[in-house]
Amino acid sequence: MKIFQGIPVSPGVSIGPLAVVDSAVRVRRRKIESAQVEKELERLATAFPIAQEKLKANRDAVEKQLGKEYAQIFEAHLLFLNDPKLRAKIEASVRDDLNSVERAVEKNFDQYADLLRGLDPAYAERVNDITDVKTRLLVELLEAGNGGAANERPTILAASNLTPSAASNLDPTKTLGIVAETGGLGSHTAIVATALQIPTVLGVGSFIAQATDGATAIVDGDAGRLILEPTDEMLRKYVAKRDAQRREKELLATNYASAPAKTQDGVAIKISGNIEFPYEADECRKNGAHGVGLYRTEFLYLAQNDGKLPDEETHFQAYKSVVEKMEGRPVVIRTFDLGADKLPEGLTFASGKEPNPFMGLRSIRLSLRNTEMFRVQLRAILRASVFGKIRVMFPLVSTITEFRQAKMIFRDVCEELAEENIPFDPDIPLGIMVETPATALMLELFVHEVDFFSIGTNDLLQYTMAVDRSNKDVGSLYEQECPALIRLIKRVVDVAKMYGKPVSLCGQMGSSPANALLLLGLGLRSLSVAPGMILQIKKVCGNATIKECEEIAQNAMFKETSSSMRVYLQSEFRRRFPKTDEYDA
Ligand code: PEP
Ligand code: MG
Repeated sequence: MKIFQGIPVSPGVSIGPLAVVDSAVRVRRRKIESAQVEKELERLATAFPIAQEKLKANRDAVEKQLGKEYAQIFEAHLLFLNDPKLRAKIEASVRDDLNSVERAVEKNFDQYADLLRGLDPAYAERVNDITDVKTRLLVELLEAGNGGAANERPTILAASNLTPSAASNLDPTKTLGIVAETGGLGSHTAIVATALQIPTVLGVGSFIAQATDGATAIVDGDAGRLILEPTDEMLRKYVAKRDAQRREKELLATNYASAPAKTQDGVAIKISGNIEFPYEADECRKNGAHGVGLYRTEFLYLAQNDGKLPDEETHFQAYKSVVEKMEGRPVVIRTFDLGADKLPEGLTFASGKEPNPFMGLRSIRLSLRNTEMFRVQLRAILRASVFGKIRVMFPLVSTITEFRQAKMIFRDVCEELAEENIPFDPDIPLGIMVETPATALMLELFVHEVDFFSIGTNDLLQYTMAVDRSNKDVGSLYEQECPALIRLIKRVVDVAKMYGKPVSLCGQMGSSPANALLLLGLGLRSLSVAPGMILQIKKVCGNATIKECEEIAQNAMFKETSSSMRVYLQSEFRRRFPKTDEYDA
């Protein structure tokens, strides 16, 4: 048995066989029998032209949307894909070394990339191109099914790194758990894993070399533990914990699903759901959510998986389905928050590789730079607005000018629809995410023009502490119980309330039961949390009074460090909800 400690990012326990993959795409380290060689080579021969056609289609789509300059990248990709030497090496690797075709593609593309990397650092861009082409080819091979991991029994996915885009293409019925060497609490991979309700531990550090494909493993998404080849005793304990969690879930549903949240002293709290995919609206309804407090629409682009931008109809159908599922409850649609770690496969928006992508062309900055793409989404949102109650929210607004520009484009799209006699709700409120210290500090300016605010603690923490939210090496600085973050939240809530503006919080912090007590004490009466956490947070609300929460908030202001804050909040939480077992986080 080997135990590794990582960062817990999606709760729950999973037990099952490991699928050790070598890249973001699920490639098993598989050998084949000699009799399978010809069949494997046939699969390769089928995958190449399909990948080529898709690359060409992407090139044409990007050229149409963004211009020739952006489309050129695909020419380089096509050159790599058509390289006869590389193709011959892959074939030899299957024939001579009996590697599965996926493994052969991966190995040879990686060797090619290493060669270029070693020649000159200036080839870094080309290395990225090679990786992109490799991924594209692997996707074709795996989608074709035979021999890929896609059709196998459910497994725990063990990867060195898993991108948000790869995570959004996972099948939750086949993925029991996720564990990766890299990544952190705030990464979007973590957010997708939570959405899919897959127990997940990221930032484990090197473990792949010690992991055997197919061996039993345990992922403890509450305590951040990965246990490889557990002893029988450990296995028994975790099976008991997993079963207890299932029973607890059923009990929560019985007690809290149908009633709206309120505190012990009867104060109503709006608990909404954060969603990335339309089907999650079902979970929100099932758990009696007030509404959808954050719809991360960028996942529509990330799940596209063909290098194309979703068209207006694709957007419209997604929004209409969410709004209809929510039957008149409010749905906050956040316009696409692409960039940084959220980039669709095969698409780039910046002029070159960004040295500092979280500080770069992302979110509203990207929308304002690509207005045609932005307008497509706004048109679809407006069209869907007649089917329910939509609010529009812009991400990462850090200056009032950005908000004004976004609002101007929104108004212009409204006029365009009116001219075309397309019906829409003319009174859609326009809000912003508060995700930068600049916005929190300038809130008095925003209150006069913005209809509502939602505090995005994931990014607000990142930009307050100058710490990359997905970098495990600085993960100890990325702690939600950060005193500076809590002061900023208090400021935003106080100012918004002073001016009578609705304020909510949709960062991951609200999904933490212990932190929820503090947030109520800071004056928040609306939280948007992961759909799988709605019932838990309702339960927390129901077991505390506002006075108690305010006391917690007052005491919290005296804590000097994130760790003393966390210890304090945990102890207050445990006083109300005692630990139930020894592996409880
Ligand atoms: C946030 O930053 O807190 C947030 C909710 O947005 P995202 O996690 O999608 O960046
Ligand atoms: Mg954010």
